[in-house]
Amino acid sequence: MKDADMKFATKVIHVGGEPDKETGALMPPIFQTSTYAQSSPGKNKGYEYSRSHNPTRTRLEKNLASLEDAKYALVTASGLSLMSLIMHSLPTGSKILCSDDVYGGAYRLFTTVFNEKHHFKFIDTTDTKLVEKEMKDFSPNCIWLETPTNPMLKITNLLKVCVLAKKYKVKSFVDNTFMSPYFQKPLELGADVVVHSMTKYINGHSDIIGGAMMTNNKSLYDKVWTLQNSIGPTQSPFDSWLVLRGIKTLAIRMEAHQKNAIKVAKYLETHKKIEKVIYPGLKSHPQHSIAKKQMSGFGGMISFFIKGGSKESKRFLERVKLFSLAESLGGVESLVGHPETMSHASIPKKIKTELGITTSLIRLSVGIEDSDDLIADLEKALS
Ligand SMILES: *Cc1c(COP(=O)(O)O)cnc(C)c1O
Repeated sequence: MKDADMKFATKVIHVGGEPDKETGALMPPIFQTSTYAQSSPGKNKGYEYSRSHNPTRTRLEKNLASLEDAKYALVTASGLSLMSLIMHSLPTGSKILCSDDVYGGAYRLFTTVFNEKHHFKFIDTTDTKLVEKEMKDFSPNCIWLETPTNPMLKITNLLKVCVLAKKYKVKSFVDNTFMSPYFQKPLELGADVVVHSMTKYINGHSDIIGGAMMTNNKSLYDKVWTLQNSIGPTQSPFDSWLVLRGIKTLAIRMEAHQKNAIKVAKYLETHKKIEKVIYPGLKSHPQHSIAKKQMSGFGGMISFFIKGGSKESKRFLERVKLFSLAESLGGVESLVGHPETMSHASIPKKIKTELGITTSLIRLSVGIEDSDDLIADLEKALS
């Protein structure tokens, strides 16, 4: 069967997962090597140094490209190193229109590392009219979208914004970390480039750091690959192998995350100590209808406001047991976070207030444990 004809749950296991040609080993070996023997100067079997290419990483890239139906995939040492390479690839003085509620680390990278090279403007990209206005007024070269955003889970209408991007000749980038290609395919919706922190759902087991980019744009891929080879943030063969192992269960994990998240969101919505729950799968979510159209599921991330202030949220965060208080998301185990002081600590207070990131905001990454146990854990902490 051709790779392109396989369904998603087959691709995650078989594309790039073919048995080793030489030995028949069903599980591909980890090519833990920095260099490769040459038969004559410059004559090699396609590999010469592992910063440039490594067979384990090649397998992972092949797998990832197939999941987003892209021609090219590039794997790097972390999500942020990949974003740095993309920023380096843009001509100095580029104007980048950016979702206003992006991952805290992306905000820090853009505003403190690349702020002298490029101009960034942060806007609410869920407002399609505002996006069009800024495409005229600000006249950006690129638009950087995160949908759903982190932590407010705002949904940008990708189809509409990508049509605008094409109309105004703006390159579109979508951070698809929260949905994974299982629930959302930005390239199909018209985006030029998809980026991922593989640290989260793609690997899914909280044991590696990694980034990936998928695109059909050859010249952009070549540029970013050349930069990754020149600057050097490559992923180790062992970490690539772990992602290849973790990704096999992406389809069933995403289903399980979502099933639990829907139950948890509904439970929280009726709890008297909860002010408000934000989950794209709830009818109360302001962009629920767009979410239903452009995503094939709603994911495992939930944000909510607890009634009271810092005392109440701190007590809750200290009392949950199955939900570990930790940075990150997307692993099989449930995590709880306090965006104001954790993932979004590097964002100025004024901006956090504007976005609604207050001390009573709590974010859950709902894992794939038994949902009754998860709800019992929340119930105990809330009471
Ligand atoms: C974690 C995360 C990143 C950064 O990725 P790292 O692998 O931690 O460098 C970028 N975007 C989103 C949405 C994330 O959650």
